[in-house]
Amino acid sequence: MTERYADVIIDIAHEKVDRIFQYRIPEELTESVRPGVRVHVPFGKGNQEKVGYVVDISEQTDYPLEKIKTVTAVDERGISAESRQIQIAYWLKSQYGSTMIAALKTVLPVKQKQRMLEKKKVLRCLSASETARAAEECERKHQRAKARVLSALQTEEELPYELIRQKLNVAAATLQTLEKQGYLTIEREAYYRNPVKMADRDEIRPRLTSVQQHIIEEVLAAYRAGRPGVHLVHGVTGSGKTEVYLGIIEQMIEMGKQAIVLIPEIALTYQTLLRFYKRFGDRVSVMNSTLSAGEKYDQIERAKAGEIDVIIGPRSALFTPFANLGVIVIDEEHENSYKSEASPKYHARETALQIASMCGASVVLGSATPSLEAYYRASRGEYQLYEMKERPGESVLPVVHTIDLREELKQGNRSVFSRKLKSLLEDRLSRGEQSILFLNRRGYAGFVSCRACGHVMKCPHCDVSLSEHRNGMLVCHYCGYQEMKRGKCPSCGSPYLLGFKAGTEQIEEAIHREFPTARVLRMDADTTRTKESYEKILSAFADEKADILVGTQMIVKGHDFPRVTLVGVLAADLSLNQNDYRAAERTFQLLTQAAGRAGRGDRPGEVVIQTYQPEHYSVVYAARQDYEGFYEEEIAYRELMGYPPAAHMLAVLLISTLQEEGEMLGREMTELVKKEMGSVDGLQLIGPTEAAIGKLSDLYRHIFYLRHGDYQVLVEAKDRLEKYCRERGLKNQTVQFDFDPMTVY
Ligand code: ADP
Ligand code: ZN
Ligand code: ZN
Repeated sequence: MTERYADVIIDIAHEKVDRIFQYRIPEELTESVRPGVRVHVPFGKGNQEKVGYVVDISEQTDYPLEKIKTVTAVDERGISAESRQIQIAYWLKSQYGSTMIAALKTVLPVKQKQRMLEKKKVLRCLSASETARAAEECERKHQRAKARVLSALQTEEELPYELIRQKLNVAAATLQTLEKQGYLTIEREAYYRNPVKMADRDEIRPRLTSVQQHIIEEVLAAYRAGRPGVHLVHGVTGSGKTEVYLGIIEQMIEMGKQAIVLIPEIALTYQTLLRFYKRFGDRVSVMNSTLSAGEKYDQIERAKAGEIDVIIGPRSALFTPFANLGVIVIDEEHENSYKSEASPKYHARETALQIASMCGASVVLGSATPSLEAYYRASRGEYQLYEMKERPGESVLPVVHTIDLREELKQGNRSVFSRKLKSLLEDRLSRGEQSILFLNRRGYAGFVSCRACGHVMKCPHCDVSLSEHRNGMLVCHYCGYQEMKRGKCPSCGSPYLLGFKAGTEQIEEAIHREFPTARVLRMDADTTRTKESYEKILSAFADEKADILVGTQMIVKGHDFPRVTLVGVLAADLSLNQNDYRAAERTFQLLTQAAGRAGRGDRPGEVVIQTYQPEHYSVVYAARQDYEGFYEEEIAYRELMGYPPAAHMLAVLLISTLQEEGEMLGREMTELVKKEMGSVDGLQLIGPTEAAIGKLSDLYRHIFYLRHGDYQVLVEAKDRLEKYCRERGLKNQTVQFDFDPMTVY
């Protein structure tokens, strides 16, 4: 029998995971020593007995055999939070391909020597109307931060300190000043033996519709019957999905269970958080990128200690180690940000399914435009599907106009606004209603090319074109490289170097030209370098400080602007021109979500979709708000081509300092696949070839793809390739695996 060795970590903490020790597994323990299990091992010079965690099992060891010690015993205590985290890390490593250390670092929070933050609350000292007057006064004096705090306190008598600090972007000093001035008091939790929960007082609960009621009951009934399962809520924006999540979580908490709620970072707004705080008070916590490592660590510790029942956050909140997890909710389930871009390149949906099955928890997915993956599985009965077709209350779905831009040009209209959009914009401005203009692109212009010879200005470090910005700089959006725009073409010397296609800045300028009185806000990656500036623009627009909001995809994400009655999509097909099998899906999602921004109040909305491809099915179905129609057509295409979700795909990206190295490695690795797995029925190999972005930050990129209907076949290929890389002792190349990729490399 072959010897087996266990990789053991004595102190399981994020910053110590690379301190792995190997032990021999004695024969009588081969069955019971598995990743995640606690073991007793002899440690150090005196062979003192310690408890450690097994993180991996291997059949080889790098240590001299005579020096290797043996596992003494398996610890039989119940499954600890740590054990479960290791099991999850091991699963990530096996399913997505990465080192065990990288997987552990994904799952374990960073520990920092830092005091636990005190829980604080902010209470207003004046009445609502006095507070409102004070807010106006501050606004007049341009004391914006103070005004934000006071107007938030006008509607809520008390608010969590951290919520104000993070989501309203207010400095601690500002709050102290307001306290000194007698507008508010900051109270520490310690003084609050019996905190009055906000939820007990002023949450106005809507009467649930029968559809909402039904979904909540079904999900909980399945859970109680021991079939937690996966539930997909397909509901248009504003149909009341969040209310459904709240209802499910509430009853889970009553059963002594906890909940993880994933929301894309960009949709994690103050308003959304407030709804959760109002319902669950101090028992809810939030995790996001503005928290320091120490604060994140504290949230994890609070979860472990049972101090909270609900955690809300983006992807990483998934790894919160609750003792009795009841449900994982994933809102906006179709979002790309649920896929990790760093190894292990895991998908939060798939990982949630795994974690839920380990814990016996339910999974609830929600979206107005479910991913093809989720809907496909629902159609095969793997997920329970629920439809929410209507919005509660008065608001109605918008009227959509599709405008053919080729036709506009024929009629002599060279403006970025079609005649229809222009007249509707005029109409909204005259009625004092708000509009959103959406462009799937950022920067002043796209790439810059020479009209005479066609030379395209490219980044010297990356194989991508530079984008022109208004300040005359050419910028690389991948590595940040900048150069001044030159007067002459570097290739032929012609003076006709021109930018191509409109960007958000140009749209903003066009609005100023065509509607001089309109107040405009622009939101794109350049105006939202910090999370705070993002929220500032949103709240300024919500406060009607502007008539028109211009922006990139980030404006279409889950925000509620009741006064927006017009949404214009300036060039709907820009996202179609990507060589990506998900381009149609992405376009459909963007258009549908953009349309969903119009008319959320009591006034009906209108949507104008401007496009060069009005006949493209993603545009046609989005205009009709017909998800099923789109799905049927798209899934037929995926099935025909063998793309996910109809089959699975593994991208292997090779990154090297020398071009030849990458080429060679690509050939070697694909040869290996052919040799060792050539006989596997239905396994397809595509490549190797240079990646779409052949060079990034001076590193060369090559790629090949494997396709097969069975995910585990691809996992096996990955294992073989990993083994090969290990044995070859690769130095200057990095090999990255990406299953069912969502990016073009
Ligand atoms: P979604 O998450 O699907 O976008 P929300 O749950 O945010 O939808 O609901 C949209 C709006 O409708 C919110 O303002 C919410 O308070 C309100 N709402 C939700 N359910 C009901 C209901 N049953 N009756 C009245 N209003 C509701
Ligand atoms: Zn030229
Ligand atoms: Zn670059």
